[in-house]
Amino acid sequence: MKLTVEILKVGHCSHPEKIVYAKGKMKARKFPANVFLIKHPGKGSILFDTGYANRFYEVTKKLPEKLYAIVTPVILPEAEQLVVQLQKKGLTPEQIFKIIISHFHADHVAGLKDFPAKNVICCKKSLQNLLKLGRFKQVTKGFLKELIPKNWQEEFSCISEVPIVDTGLKHLPVGGDILGDKSIISIALPGHMEGHFGVFLPKTNMGPLLLAGDAFWTAKNLMENVMPHSITSFLQHDYKQYKETLNKLSLTFNDKAITIIGCHCDDEEVVALTQPEL
Ligand SMILES: [Zn+2]
Ligand SMILES: [Zn+2]
Repeated sequence: MKLTVEILKVGHCSHPEKIVYAKGKMKARKFPANVFLIKHPGKGSILFDTGYANRFYEVTKKLPEKLYAIVTPVILPEAEQLVVQLQKKGLTPEQIFKIIISHFHADHVAGLKDFPAKNVICCKKSLQNLLKLGRFKQVTKGFLKELIPKNWQEEFSCISEVPIVDTGLKHLPVGGDILGDKSIISIALPGHMEGHFGVFLPKTNMGPLLLAGDAFWTAKNLMENVMPHSITSFLQHDYKQYKETLNKLSLTFNDKAITIIGCHCDDEEVVALTQPEL
């Protein structure tokens, strides 16, 4: 059984390349917020993350949330909005079978409220801990609580409750069987944010594919095993774990076994990171 994966760009922000790649230039580069639309032959459409949404502008109008929008200027053209893109494909939010959330940074959850909360699967413990923080602290962690549906506690399901399975990947050997048929396997990628995880899809139209969330920001991090600029260490939940995760991903990629794509890779990087099918 093969899944079909399509990458939807849902807004972008701009930062100097040097921030995400220590050997990079100071010139600003666009970082798209990618959402992955996964078609499962039996279950239907599944999303990995939700990208930006107009809601991001609304909730960052006042301080301290405004600081987030100042540090990360976001561009979201109308045609790139997730619900608009899905509508063009004939899909309503209710038709999305599952929404898998890698972590709770605003660029991954801004669209959450557009979908039925009962279909969301995420790390609930991480969300609970973020909600306990004060508003200012939340903003410094890249978390905007207004983006989270009020009924999340009852409705969301937790990634920690799915059965554990072998992934067959040497450096990332265990995961969670999200759908019970080993077609989408969650893989813990700790360091970037508490509970951060990716998904491994053993059979897709792009070959074996690992969607890595924000475990890396530019293809060069994986291809050359080069870390982001040390200035980003404060952005990571646990920098030591982040480096270990990046190293494991880099080793996995360089084994030439699977394609690994991050949530902020542009078209060129997706091509560079796509492994030829064996
Ligand atoms: Zn993030
Ligand atoms: Zn991100």
